[in-house]
Amino acid sequence: MSQLQRLTITSSQLQENNHQLEIILTTQQQHYLFRVLRLANNDKFIAMDGQGKCWLTQLNGIYQDKCQVLELLDVKTELPISVTLMLALPKGNAFDDVVRYCTELGVTCIAPILSDRTLLNPSSQKLQRWQRIASEAAEQSERTIVPTILEPVTFNTAIYEFVTNHSYICEARGDYSHLKKFIASNSDNIIIAIGPEGGWSEKEVNMAIDQGFKPVSLGSRILRAVTAPIFAMSLLAAHYDSH
Ligand code: SAM
Repeated sequence: MSQLQRLTITSSQLQENNHQLEIILTTQQQHYLFRVLRLANNDKFIAMDGQGKCWLTQLNGIYQDKCQVLELLDVKTELPISVTLMLALPKGNAFDDVVRYCTELGVTCIAPILSDRTLLNPSSQKLQRWQRIASEAAEQSERTIVPTILEPVTFNTAIYEFVTNHSYICEARGDYSHLKKFIASNSDNIIIAIGPEGGWSEKEVNMAIDQGFKPVSLGSRILRAVTAPIFAMSLLAAHYDSH
């Protein structure tokens, strides 16, 4: 099963035909399966809805735009917690890598943040690009959930929207306890905020603390804005992965 190719579909592509579940493939997906992956009729692949469900699926011998669902698969590759990363957008295309690697590590949701020191104002195509990168990384890492990438919002908006009992703001300077000390087995919904190259402003850190975020350290070294979320996700994955 592990060798089979994976493809993300939307739930609207699933339909029942004579008590048999089938998937209607888009033209782009047919091109990908038949031309790029060079699969042939009757070959099998794994279709995933990106929301936790995966099916063993077989390409149809007659119609290239339909494939047959053979069975629902029981895939357990997700972390047992939900992790939202609030990430101030770094410069250039660095966010592409953050989305890719944090998806592999199990992130549930990424909220791109426009902070006081954010230098980038992303174009509208960027969101689609990040969502596509998240889909591909989820397929590659055999996840069943494709993380949601939210529309970029200002820090001031995000700080009121994203709060749980386990919300943390990573601050590179200051005498704060390490994030690892707060990782507890009773948390199911964690939010972690990470600043841009220039760091969070003092005003932002204070606002976050007022909203219930705990300021935390990620260790003695100053990590790049790209490295910090990958490190935080690695810590969480190492703690919560069940095997
Ligand atoms: N220019 C900032 C400075 O010199 O203080 C450093 C910013 S750092 C490159 C980018 C972000 O990564 C920070 O805002 C913080 O959220 C996170 N970060 C990096 N290293 C960290 C550390 N050791 N502890 C906590 N957060 C860290």
